[in-house]
Amino acid sequence: MKFCSECGAPVELRVPEGDDRPRYTCTQCDIIHYQNPRVVVGCLPTIGDQVLLC
Ligand SMILES: [Zn+2]
Repeated sequence: MKFCSECGAPVELRVPEGDDRPRYTCTQCDIIHYQNPRVVVGCLPTIGDQVLLC
């Protein structure tokens, strides 16, 4: 990642305050761009007193 997706300014790889790993951080707006975010989705259909976990 070279540029911020919010403002277009260059990003730098540094450890943000309160974190322990290097993250791509915008040099202008200080937004932290986390890589490889994983989306978790759940579904809990119920019929009467039966529950299906999927
Ligand atoms: Zn930015």
